[in-house]
Amino acid sequence: MSSTLPFVHQVPKNACVSEQIPFVEYLHLAPTPHLVAHQCTSCGARFFDRRNACASCFGTSFADADIATEGFVRSFTIVSFAAPGIPVPFVSAIIECDGTSVRGNLTNVTADPEHVSLGMKVRLTTYVVGADDAGTEAVNFAFEPVS
Ligand SMILES: [Zn+2]
Repeated sequence: MSSTLPFVHQVPKNACVSEQIPFVEYLHLAPTPHLVAHQCTSCGARFFDRRNACASCFGTSFADADIATEGFVRSFTIVSFAAPGIPVPFVSAIIECDGTSVRGNLTNVTADPEHVSLGMKVRLTTYVVGADDAGTEAVNFAFEPVS
């Protein structure tokens, strides 16, 4: 018997097997996946998109703020109609993460009112949206129930 495994793909030790890039700018994958908001240094308001000025106080200075990866469902809707190619139903929700509201979809839960409820505890998780020819994966986030 040969000691080589015929079906195991051999890759050089230093090769980057599957590089990952975040699907949205405010998702950071390292050291563990978490969201980062732009926090106004004057009033503390947080924004996930890039701002020239704070919508609350018109301050123009922002600092990065790590967002808690666990929270609870503050509001949700079960989406039954979507563009072609998007599987329905799915749950679109507002998650309260230690004082910061985050819009995201729920995953790993049945999308019906029996399985989703206000106040339900959830945590951040990630999934691969797709990969390009070089094997680089685009990673997006969602929230899943804390069991
Ligand atoms: Zn502000």
